Amino acid sequence: MSTSRATQDPATPDSEPETRNPKPPPLPRQNAWGFYEIRMESIGGLGAHLAGQILGEAAVLGMGLNGAHFSSYGSEKRGTPVKSYVRLCEPERELRVSSPVERPHLLAIFHDTLLDAPFTLQGLDPGSTVVANTRRSLGELFGTLDLPQGTTLARVDALGIALQEGSRINTAMLGAMVRAASFPDAAAVKETIVRILGTRRRDLLEANLRTFDRGFAETETLVVELSVDEPVPRRAPPRLGYANTPRGGLLYAPGNSIRRDNSVFREGRIPELLPEKCTHCGLCDMVCPDYCFVWQEETDKRGRPAMLLQGIDYQYCKGCMTCIAVCPPKALVERPDDEAFVHAYRVPLVNYLGTP
Ligand code: SF4
Ligand code: SF4
Repeated sequence: MSTSRATQDPATPDSEPETRNPKPPPLPRQNAWGFYEIRMESIGGLGAHLAGQILGEAAVLGMGLNGAHFSSYGSEKRGTPVKSYVRLCEPERELRVSSPVERPHLLAIFHDTLLDAPFTLQGLDPGSTVVANTRRSLGELFGTLDLPQGTTLARVDALGIALQEGSRINTAMLGAMVRAASFPDAAAVKETIVRILGTRRRDLLEANLRTFDRGFAETETLVVELSVDEPVPRRAPPRLGYANTPRGGLLYAPGNSIRRDNSVFREGRIPELLPEKCTHCGLCDMVCPDYCFVWQEETDKRGRPAMLLQGIDYQYCKGCMTCIAVCPPKALVERPDDEAFVHAYRVPLVNYLGTP
């Protein structure tokens, strides 16, 4: 769990930053404790943590609200589940809560696959806003998701926008969230993008501002009209917890990730092997975090036994592109992640392990 806070002390007005809005706007909605709460369901590498940081700073420094941002993620590696939370309130109110957001007023879903996961919509109240990065139409989403009465449902092809603009999906999602919820203020969010990316990645600033604008402009929304006025049930307690997890983190089912499909974590790009350039040096395999490279014992050009690279198992490839960076003869190149290519050129690892 990582925590970053963007809070202001209402007792020290003299120390307020210049960017602070002297008259904070009213919160669009509040829970019983006076908080407006945002939850982002994402996957490591899609930038939800940074998006939360930008939203929190925009609300505090740009709009004069009080707020906190924090994220939770597991093994801190690309491809693992990430949740990022923003909690906002009026500046006079103290904010001492750092528990996960269970009942979000604004829920952002950063990957299409998460729409089908049972936990994604948990705790959603009637009248909330849901923003999804997806190529599915609003009609398809409405038919698939079990949304409560009065939900504002929004969709945007954030991945498509990011690929076209050479940026990342998080700024497209920020534009979509601001558009769908009419909150926080778009100008404050853009100023924060400039402040944060202007110091960290100035080369990507223009592309990300264009991505934000397109996310805002290309978002489509509908309001769910149903007679059912029930919230989505909250998360059930996990099956394993501190009281009953096996000691030492013992795995009862070793090798249980053999059927794991990492393709859902990719962001539109994959490596392609150019076999005629490959020298079978094995460097790519040493840096690949997910053992995607498939080898077979054969004979080399001189007729000696050798392990030769057969290809890539795209089921496990999450598109981190680390292998491309290390390949000495440039036998790995970046290409679009299109289904026909992956289907034609995937070399299944399980065949070589003798596993069905
Ligand atoms: S690093 Fe490049 S040359 Fe070496 S085995 Fe991998 S693809 Fe082939
Ligand atoms: S991009 Fe390369 S290093 Fe990264 S997971 Fe895929 S095959 Fe492995």
